[in-house]
Amino acid sequence: MDKITRKAYAKINLGLDVLRRREDGYHEVRMIMQSVGLYDTLTFTRHEEAGIAVVTDKEELPGDESNLIYKAAKLLTDTYGIRQGVHIALEKRIPMAAGMAGGSTDAAAVFHGMNEMFSLGLSIEEMCVLAVRIGADVPYCIKGGTALAEGIGEILSDLPGMPDCFLLIAKPDIDVSTKFVYENLHADCLEYHPDIDGMIRVLSSKELGSVAAKLGNVLETVTVKKYPQVEEIKDFMKAQGALNALMSGSGPTVFGIYDSKERAHEAQGALERAGLAKQVFVTVPVNTGR
Ligand code: ATP
Repeated sequence: MDKITRKAYAKINLGLDVLRRREDGYHEVRMIMQSVGLYDTLTFTRHEEAGIAVVTDKEELPGDESNLIYKAAKLLTDTYGIRQGVHIALEKRIPMAAGMAGGSTDAAAVFHGMNEMFSLGLSIEEMCVLAVRIGADVPYCIKGGTALAEGIGEILSDLPGMPDCFLLIAKPDIDVSTKFVYENLHADCLEYHPDIDGMIRVLSSKELGSVAAKLGNVLETVTVKKYPQVEEIKDFMKAQGALNALMSGSGPTVFGIYDSKERAHEAQGALERAGLAKQVFVTVPVNTGR
């Protein structure tokens, strides 16, 4: 095939705990990851001439060597001696610097896309082993769906999918650096830890109310202190009928869980009118996010 298209799904965290900071600076985490129906689109075109070219539809996101798409394509080309070239066009919809793994999921789509285009024959597990070199969240994005991510995020266990619901996702107009949040988290003396094991249990029960009640993200303690609008959006969503609301990843994106599509859309309108966030979406969990 000379041309293929892949969707790269965003994720939210239903739970995010940090256990400790390691000597090498990485943090050991326990995260519950969930793919959602908000996605970027990557179109791959094969060329006889060697070389990687990445173009994006966002001025602020260059397709140069800093782009995770480029990094993933280069890693695959070098590792598997791919002699042909590839052109990759990105249509970006996932908010950036948002805590939704937008860059990691694009890199994961490159693994799937080039595996297919160049008939590399790689299994999901083989792709994951290589992908962690691009970023700790890339292996999860390769697998997608609902998973417990441990270690630095690369040790994955499948979990039962999130019960059916509607998700209101809102990114306030601020960019949060993941590095800043982890650097300001005092991982060894945290007073609050979300109940990750409890969340794993309730996911098996398939009860939406119990899942909503168990949401928790330890990184809120840092991000909310600097950006109080994150808490404001959570409160707003709850006042607008969300069963619960949480910040995703290092933020600033907030998601609210709704049991009715109409209520989620009403809350979306109210949130936009209140001017609390510019990027606001209603979507659903995706239980096979690839
Ligand atoms: P995470 O949830 O993994 O912390 P994030 O959603 O907070 O990720 P991203 O949108 O993945 O953040 O991107 C963070 C930074 O990575 C961007 O500001 C951008 O400079 C860089 N980047 C490199 N490649 C990409 C890409 N393909 N898409 C988005 N950002 C990218």
